[in-house]
Amino acid sequence: MDNIPENLKNLSAQLPSEVTLVAVSKTKPNEAILAAYDTGHRIFGENKVQEMTRKWESLPRDIQWHMIGHLQSNKVKYIAPFVSLIHSLDSQKLAKEIDRQGGRYRRVIDCLLQIKIAKEEEKYGFSVEEASNFLEHLSTNPFPHMRICGVMGMATFTQDQQQITEEFLVLKHFFQTHKTRHNLEILSMGMSGDYPLAIKTGSNMIRVGSAIFGSRQTH
Ligand SMILES: *Cc1c(COP(=O)(O)O)cnc(C)c1O
Repeated sequence: MDNIPENLKNLSAQLPSEVTLVAVSKTKPNEAILAAYDTGHRIFGENKVQEMTRKWESLPRDIQWHMIGHLQSNKVKYIAPFVSLIHSLDSQKLAKEIDRQGGRYRRVIDCLLQIKIAKEEEKYGFSVEEASNFLEHLSTNPFPHMRICGVMGMATFTQDQQQITEEFLVLKHFFQTHKTRHNLEILSMGMSGDYPLAIKTGSNMIRVGSAIFGSRQTH
């Protein structure tokens, strides 16, 4: 078994104070999450609704659960009572449903706009232009129970550091351009393979799984 507390401590020690670490625990058992929890870590990321809900039900209530995977509108209702941040807001239809479910639970659900930055064919996310238009639309027609507090993106899976940097810069530029007008605070970019580059490029939230919990069997 990987030494989760040690991995987490080593990683945390490298991070500038303004960078928030999301420990991506997808596919990992409760014991692995508790090993991280016992070091004081509280923010965990999952990419499947059913798995996240099951873990929320059985693990300590002060864990902040971040949804980082594609979210279908018809499943928002399961996570609406407890989700702390949705990184994967990728359509207007989904935003509308998050707002509706936020209303049912009398809360405001924080979200990040997922933006396509990779050169590979990405299934999910807004283009830069769609994201700008959506933010503009929301500034005149705000949702009462859904708040956009930043942006999220994933770079191409490649060893080409130059390409990864260029893709991160696209997201960083979008963030800089819109942050004042739209009150954006979170720039979520960087995973196990590319978080040092993401931080250099200005990320303030990284999503790290395998570097903490060890490799996964499945994706
Ligand atoms: C799985 C996943 C991560 C973490 O990936 P690692 O390479 O294990 O660090 C980060 N972000 C998203 C959206 C993911 O699906």
